[in-house]
Amino acid sequence: MNTDISLQISTLHDQHGHWPQADSVEDFRRNLAAVHARIAAACQRVGRDPTGVRLLPVSKTKPEAILRLAYAADCRFLGENKSQEAYRKWEAMTDLTDLRWSVIGHLQTNKAKLVARFAAEFQALDSLRVAEALERRLQAEGRGLDVLVQVNTSGEASKYGLPPDEVAAFLRELPAFSALRVRGFMTLALLSVEAARVRSCFVQLRELRDRLRQEAPDGIGLNELSMGMSGDYEIAVEEGATIVRVGQAIFGARATPDAYYWPSAGDGEMD
Ligand SMILES: *Cc1c(COP(=O)(O)O)cnc(C)c1O
Repeated sequence: MNTDISLQISTLHDQHGHWPQADSVEDFRRNLAAVHARIAAACQRVGRDPTGVRLLPVSKTKPEAILRLAYAADCRFLGENKSQEAYRKWEAMTDLTDLRWSVIGHLQTNKAKLVARFAAEFQALDSLRVAEALERRLQAEGRGLDVLVQVNTSGEASKYGLPPDEVAAFLRELPAFSALRVRGFMTLALLSVEAARVRSCFVQLRELRDRLRQEAPDGIGLNELSMGMSGDYEIAVEEGATIVRVGQAIFGARATPDAYYWPSAGDGEMD
């Protein structure tokens, strides 16, 4: 949008790997307040109401004791990329009855039964096979699940998600899965230092949503746009994100490289 923002974003990327570890409730309160303030400032720049943006703290790789500190700092919804890790944490923390879990990473059909058992939300739906597997397991559990369709807006073969031009046909199949409550779209932007290229991924997702909203089948909601992570959530908010998925800026840097979550992510793009 302007050079101030690209400067701000490269500053955030420069911090990659330097986010301090949060290891007290106060650390979490401070980090959450800082992210909320940046979300509010981004909203103000474009005339949005900050209550229209949900901050989803992403706790992957962090141990249970640390997640409990985040809970004590009022986190009631946590995002995890891997279904087995999420399931393990959920099992260990069932005493926190109002803590909800969002699975935000690619799912293999043989793990659908885990997600169907505990998750409140699944953000990475990108195939009918996974939709079928989830539906069957959810029916067996007597549960429903909020889902987002993951769209590949970066054009990188290494990223999961449907190509934008396949999304309309995919949505037409989804009313058959009554346990899946479709809420909108999720995307991962390019991991680039160039704010303009990151922004164009977010713009693409919003425009796709605006276009498909007209023709979406009954019962398919497209209000949610989950986009933006620690390095780029302010751009995402400016472009209409209703959910931002923020890990490292809240929990501290991760030792695990992003390539573990989306194979060979950012090759030639990483700063
Ligand atoms: C890890 C992860 C995030 C958060 O990334 P950070 O850099 O920790 O903010 C967002 N979305 C997905 C799908 C993730 O796996």
